[in-house]
Order: sequence, then C-alpha cells, then structure tokens
Amino acid sequence: MRIFFTRSEQLAHTATASGQSAARHPRGRCDSVSAVTVNRDAIRRERLLKNEQTFRDHNNRRVVFEEGAVGVDEPVPFVCECGDPDCIEGVELTVDEYTTAHSAANRFTVKPGHVFPEVEGVAAGGERFWVVEKFIVEAGAQS
Ligand SMILES: [Zn+2]
Repeated sequence: MRIFFTRSEQLAHTATASGQSAARHPRGRCDSVSAVTVNRDAIRRERLLKNEQTFRDHNNRRVVFEEGAVGVDEPVPFVCECGDPDCIEGVELTVDEYTTAHSAANRFTVKPGHVFPEVEGVAAGGERFWVVEKFIVEAGAQS
C-alpha cells in the first residue's frame, strides 16, 4: 500500500477536483429599457392625493380626541395636510374651524402657501391656514 503520491499524481488529483473552474457568468439583462410610457403626472397626482388623505385621516383622529377636551375657540395643533411627503409642519385650528374646513371630502387644511395647483385650488385663505379643494374626488371618498 502506498502512502505517498508522486508529485505528478498530486497535480493530476488537484486538477480534477478544481476542474470546473470555467465559471459561468450569468449574463445580466442590460437591454431591458422598457418601451412602456409612464404617466408621471398621474403618479405624482396620486401621491399628492394619497399623502393629503393620510394626514387628513391623522387629523380626523385628532379632532375626535380633542373635541370636548378643549374649548371651541381654542387652537389645536393639527398637521399640515399638503401633498408634500416631507412636510410635517403644524397648523393651528380650532376644532370648529377644522370641522367647518372639512365639510367636503375633497377639502384639506394646509399651511398658507402649501398648495399644489395641479391638483387643487384654494377655497379659503387665512393667516393661520388655508383650505384647499381637490379638483378630483376619489371614488368612494367620503368623510
Ligand atoms: Zn405642508
């Protein structure tokens, strides 16, 4: 029985073990520039509306919480309901003002100037807040 491999035997053995070194490089699909045209305006509008609705929902919960806890003419800090996803500014309205401003499902309260003219118009202006009115009301959107 042999204990030692000859050098050539060792080399042969090693070559066989690592013989599949012909690496297979999966080819990435770099040619996938899509011909689909994206309606960027529609996406932007959708984001604006979604964001505003999110803050409106937040404020709606807030007003329910504050109602009865504060006087009707006492300002309550709400969140600006504008379409800017980075806007976290506060808007002070009384519960009364808030309720009146949201009398329609497509109305939102924002900081003065936080208006996106492509989706909304200013329904009422003031020093502390503006009420904007959406041109589009999403189907089924109700307050
Ligand atoms: Zn804002």
